[in-house]
Amino acid sequence: MNPEVLLSRIRVVLCRTSHPGNIGAAARAMKTMGLSNLYLVEPKQFPDPEADARATSAVDILQRATVTSSLKEALVGTSFVVALSARQRDIGPPISAPRETVARLIAEAGQGEVALVFGNETVGLSNEEILNCHAAVTIPTNPDFSSLNLGSAVQVLCYECRMGAYAELPPLLEQGVTPFSSPPATHDEVEGLYSHLEAVMTNTGFYNPEQPGRLLPKLRRLFARARLERDEVNILRGILASTQVRTGHGRKG
Ligand code: SAH
Repeated sequence: MNPEVLLSRIRVVLCRTSHPGNIGAAARAMKTMGLSNLYLVEPKQFPDPEADARATSAVDILQRATVTSSLKEALVGTSFVVALSARQRDIGPPISAPRETVARLIAEAGQGEVALVFGNETVGLSNEEILNCHAAVTIPTNPDFSSLNLGSAVQVLCYECRMGAYAELPPLLEQGVTPFSSPPATHDEVEGLYSHLEAVMTNTGFYNPEQPGRLLPKLRRLFARARLERDEVNILRGILASTQVRTGHGRKG
């Protein structure tokens, strides 16, 4: 596939950015590497002259940026999502290296929209945000000083995306594709499955919202690892719906 088309399918999502200058720096980093879809989740200050100044000739990216009030909203329509994290968390997908994960991201971009998600300058990504992602990447650094400036982290990943998009791509997704495979499920379709699952598990008593424990994060991690197809989400939701019919839950009247 045309590398520019692949790059056009990658969203850069910045969560709760504090400094408008970093938003401008991210836009500049993106444009130098041929990316253009910027999403801003609850930016503290945007638009802002400091963002425009740091973007230099990439102000067009700022003007076209999409501002949302939640990460879920920024991920609607995406089917593969990578979190950028300066450290390993005790929750969410295991940490992987930028190059191998970007190779997968580019392969997934051959099928649909994908996203790179960056955290706030001080606190990084929240656990809830990380649980919306299929993979997590840490840029290898000096262990004594591992946190990059947000704009610099965006630059490193956008560079890897450009290199990946222009590299000879092995047919990653072609391997193992069966005749009955379906398109990847989008983020919002999988969120629909989670809500359905939570409702059924609550009804059956398997899940107690008063004592949630780690059940829901573990299920999210399981399904993120599987990278569900649309047909698979429909099958799972069909199974859930069938249990609701038998137990009388979800029946009208
Ligand atoms: N103190 C924060 C760091 C925030 S830096 C923390 O410990 O998480 C702002 C954002 O830049 C991070 O949320 C992450 O998305 C990205 N970033 C910075 N350094 C990184 C690194 N070494 N690897 C991957 N992402 C990094």
